[in-house]
Amino acid sequence: MASIQDFSGYQPTWCPGCGNWGIGMAIKKALVELNYSPDQVVVVFGIGCSGNMNDFLNAYGLHSLHGRALPNAIGIKLANHKLPVLAVVGDGDCYGEGGNHFIHACRGNHDITVIVHDNRVYGLTTGQSAPTAPKGYRSKSTPLGLIEAPVNPLALALTSGATFVAQGFAGDLNHLVLILKEAITHKGFSLVNVLQPCVTFNKVNTYQYYLQRVYKLEKDYQKDNFKLALEKAFEVNEEKFPLGVIYQVKRPCYHESLPQISSLPLVEKKRFLEYDSLIKEFI
Ligand code: SF4
Repeated sequence: MASIQDFSGYQPTWCPGCGNWGIGMAIKKALVELNYSPDQVVVVFGIGCSGNMNDFLNAYGLHSLHGRALPNAIGIKLANHKLPVLAVVGDGDCYGEGGNHFIHACRGNHDITVIVHDNRVYGLTTGQSAPTAPKGYRSKSTPLGLIEAPVNPLALALTSGATFVAQGFAGDLNHLVLILKEAITHKGFSLVNVLQPCVTFNKVNTYQYYLQRVYKLEKDYQKDNFKLALEKAFEVNEEKFPLGVIYQVKRPCYHESLPQISSLPLVEKKRFLEYDSLIKEFI
């Protein structure tokens, strides 16, 4: 059985106290507790402080372009749907540059797990406002206050057709591990939006801020109730943050609906390897 050490790459360079430390450890713990070893998992990263985890997590990895982690993750899954595929991204990367891909990954119910480090700023480029920053948020890029309304990640995922929508907090590692394990084992698209304090550039949404406003969903919470899930998603407008699996239903995943690969992964098909004859046909 693999250990946390087996999943550990280089020593992280994140700022001391950054929420990314908790998320990184939670991902490793979840993979160990699910009995995976590093050679059995693929993790695709976006660009940002979260994406730097590419160097800190030991597994098959791809550090993709800004906003493009999801189409790469989907491509890997379609090539070999036996592999668990994770996408580790930031809120700017996923809901900003990659917003289009996010919507279509949700509606396709592609069987990937998307873990979003939601710190409301672009930390790697020194603290500009990101899509989840609230209206009026002051940053280097918005010194007079942010004009736009924020993206609501949970509501966007729900209304785009995601079959698993959850929220975690980087300051509650054990609870985040439980959520991640459920997300990774869910068949279909899963989103885990993780509230992540950026201790260097976001002086508003701190650990203290979240500790006063997060709460765990009750044990008898109805995960398949769409209307209730939407209500939970919009609690962010009252600065309340539910933690746990907000929505989960069963629906066939994208690859299960493709007769060409539903039974046998593309990489295991003999014809897939006959690319020489294909190239000849088109040259
Ligand atoms: S800049 Fe912010 S998000 Fe990036 S490592 Fe530092 S604290 Fe974390």
